[in-house]
Amino acid sequence: METKEAVLRRYFGYAAFRQGQEEVVNALLSGRDVLCVMPTGAGKSICYQVPALLLPGVTLVISPLISLMQDQVESLTQAGVRAAFLNSSLTPAQYVHALRNMENGQYKIVYVAPERLSTEAFRAAVNRLTISLIAVDEAHCVSQWGQDFRPDYLKIASFVESLPQRPVVGAFTATATKAVRSDIAELLQLRDPLCITTGFDRPNLYFGVQTPHSKPLALLELIEQRPGKSGIVYCATRRTVEEVEALLNDKGISATRYHAGLPEEERRRNQEDFVYDRKAVMVATNAFGMGIDKSNVSFVIHYNMPKNLESYYQEAGRAGRDGSPADCILLYSPQDVRTNRFLIENSDPNPELDPDTQEKILQREYERLKYMTFYCTTTDCLRAFILHYFGEKSEAYCGCCSSCASGSALIDATIPAQQALSCVARTGQRLGSAMIADILRGSEKERILQNGWNRQSTYGLMRDKEEWEVRRLLDALLVQGLLLQTSGQYPVLKLTPAARTVLLGERKFEMRVPVAPEKTAQNDGDG
Ligand code: ADP
Ligand code: ZN
Repeated sequence: METKEAVLRRYFGYAAFRQGQEEVVNALLSGRDVLCVMPTGAGKSICYQVPALLLPGVTLVISPLISLMQDQVESLTQAGVRAAFLNSSLTPAQYVHALRNMENGQYKIVYVAPERLSTEAFRAAVNRLTISLIAVDEAHCVSQWGQDFRPDYLKIASFVESLPQRPVVGAFTATATKAVRSDIAELLQLRDPLCITTGFDRPNLYFGVQTPHSKPLALLELIEQRPGKSGIVYCATRRTVEEVEALLNDKGISATRYHAGLPEEERRRNQEDFVYDRKAVMVATNAFGMGIDKSNVSFVIHYNMPKNLESYYQEAGRAGRDGSPADCILLYSPQDVRTNRFLIENSDPNPELDPDTQEKILQREYERLKYMTFYCTTTDCLRAFILHYFGEKSEAYCGCCSSCASGSALIDATIPAQQALSCVARTGQRLGSAMIADILRGSEKERILQNGWNRQSTYGLMRDKEEWEVRRLLDALLVQGLLLQTSGQYPVLKLTPAARTVLLGERKFEMRVPVAPEKTAQNDGDG
């Protein structure tokens, strides 16, 4: 039998597996299910195509994306692999023909749309075959909490179950929060899967967050520091796109714009101007970027905070595709949080889902927004923060982000942590962070006096601290999992079980704080 390296070379022309690919291939070959999370472009297809060529029988790849199926089948066929797809792009006659070929063992890899699995004809055909491997592409579609929920994905588990012999199952996705990951494992009924998350790190990207007094000034400064460089400025709304583009052009910066409100003709023209370097800067909403392959984007600036880290990382990741150093900088203001809350509250519910599910989806949106906000306010390494969010391990210090570059120190904050936790406990775990900060700082707000919180033993313990210092402490307690913040319109702080160990003095609490000079728009440049 050929080795996996030989298959990789012969059919795909690659000399070596990338990080993570080999582990996935080994697991599938040994019969172990896999849950593989890798970003787009990291090389997920190799992970199931190589085992497909080494295992006996046929591999089914379940995918919702018709154009992707066609591309993959085309390139597999060119590489000499017998492959086909079964989806709605085929005429009934072509479909029957492909199905018959599959039954006759003509194909090694068959791509199939999820809705085909439950059809009579398809079931009859697969029952006569040995299916060794089922690869579920875009596996997050099985989760109702994701944006791309596909009810047909829920039928995959019973399809697998109905086969004469259970094949090994690999689930693949580019984005999955912890909750979605556990949904995938459960709903696809994976058996003791190897869970692997890799490839999210982009070492050539610098990550920065600024909280400037004036976003327009900060933006101009950032762009003027990069004369002639190609970059994208993402804005939250169409109106902001218009304003920012006008601002840049006023200052003589070569900029164009893109958002869904523009006529198609103008969008196409502006996009080409940017892609062919006739305009240096593209100012756009998140409508811009899908399917655009421009490798020399040297910065991506977010003028507003996106609603979650998945979106942020996808958009920021459009910088530095060619591997040369590039900057991803986010201009944060607390107003961004309110805007996003408003957008989440007013988003159109999916009419196919019951109210209960819709409510849960909403809660998860708030949850994700919370982590996006933490990213903007943390003093920890930003790269580490992103990688941890996506479930990947990393060093605590990368040296190439605004936190690492600004110089920070790890301090022992056990005592203030105990004070804050105990304040949350004594007020009944039903207050938000602003109120907790007020109580700790000894505010005389009416609500505090009315409720007698000024008689709590923690009242005023942080009288000598600035509000932002107390907020930073509360943020650190949240990020490190000692406090949790409920979702919804009026989030409140609660203690987690881990808080007990700090309250009892069994555990130290350390946090990273910037050392002078403090982060400002002026000295927190591009690093
Ligand atoms: P994904 O499905 O994760 O988005 P793909 O499977 O389409 O990614 O692969 C992305 C690109 O990386 C493709 O051009 C692919 O040929 C290339 N690639 C994948 N694995 C390797 C490898 N081991 N060595 C070199 N290139 C690879
Ligand atoms: Zn860092």
